[in-house]
Amino acid sequence: MSGNEEMIELLFSHGYVDERVAEAMRKVPRELFIPEEYGRSAYADTPLPIGLGQTISAPSIVAFMSKSLDVQEGMKVLEIGSGSGYQAAILAELAGNSGVVYTVERIPQLIQLAKTNVEKLSLTNVKFVEGDGTKGYAQESPYDRIIVTAASPSIPQPLVDQLKEGGKLLIPVGSRMFQDLQLVVKVGKEVEISNLMPVVFVPLIGEFGYK
Ligand code: SAH
Repeated sequence: MSGNEEMIELLFSHGYVDERVAEAMRKVPRELFIPEEYGRSAYADTPLPIGLGQTISAPSIVAFMSKSLDVQEGMKVLEIGSGSGYQAAILAELAGNSGVVYTVERIPQLIQLAKTNVEKLSLTNVKFVEGDGTKGYAQESPYDRIIVTAASPSIPQPLVDQLKEGGKLLIPVGSRMFQDLQLVVKVGKEVEISNLMPVVFVPLIGEFGYK
């Protein structure tokens, strides 16, 4: 059994993934997304440095967020914080060939890293955007799903505006140290917010995030 398969079975037995997310994760080996020097830790449940002070999240967090976002075939998904590209690749598997993932990253070297990593797979439905993701990506809005993989002081209004009616947004909200992972569902002009679990993410830096 490969390290990836062992990790997925463990995540499954602890309820972090369902069958669909497990299947998507099987197609996206985490080792392709982390720096060589951390290769031996690829399947340990821990975040790892990817350079420029940023991290790839722990597998259980990526798994839980992927499951909670509830991405179906054909959906248009927006990710803020491409980092290594790992989360984007899993979302792209979930959205399938009829769906698409736009991933926004503010650090140019990391958008390049994410591109290089995702190109190791045969995915054609990931689109990379360089910029301040706190403003979303209005050009392709509205989105069925939005996921923010960095910590925000509050929910950026542009992201709510760019969400479809009935759409879901997942975002860590809190201080720079600790956050709650919030699930935001857009119902008419209102939003319903629930706290899923406490998390620790690197800060979301931009106009509607941390300065
Ligand atoms: N999803 C990534 C992990 C992201 S770490 C993965 O699977 O590897 C958080 C990322 O958010 C970092 O790369 C950081 O540079 C980026 N980030 C922070 N603020 C941002 C902003 N305003 N817009 C876009 N990306 C941002």
